[in-house]
Amino acid sequence: MCIKRREVRKYARERVRQGNDKYDNHIETQTYFEYHLEFRTAAGEKKEIMERDSARRYYDYFRVGDYVRYHPQLNNFYEKYDKSRDKYLICPVCGKESKASLDRCKYCHNILVK
Ligand SMILES: [Zn+2]
Repeated sequence: MCIKRREVRKYARERVRQGNDKYDNHIETQTYFEYHLEFRTAAGEKKEIMERDSARRYYDYFRVGDYVRYHPQLNNFYEKYDKSRDKYLICPVCGKESKASLDRCKYCHNILVK
């Protein structure tokens, strides 16, 4: 198990995507957001997660300055040290949210990390 403590930083970035419309040849632009989370150790070692648009589960779950524990053997799961203020937990197996009062994930029934 990796027990190095990592600190959360995060930022959002607006991006523009361009696509060619196949039918009338005009170029469409579309803006979307990328949500970046960085996990840094005191030594400056960095890991990063990027989520897009509405699929931003980790971005909403972690606060800037939270400390996390990284579990590479658990699907590269990031566990928050202080879960006392959390209303929900993220399942290390399926990545979905379950109420913090539950012991097992309500979707895949695996044990939640508490
Ligand atoms: Zn699950």
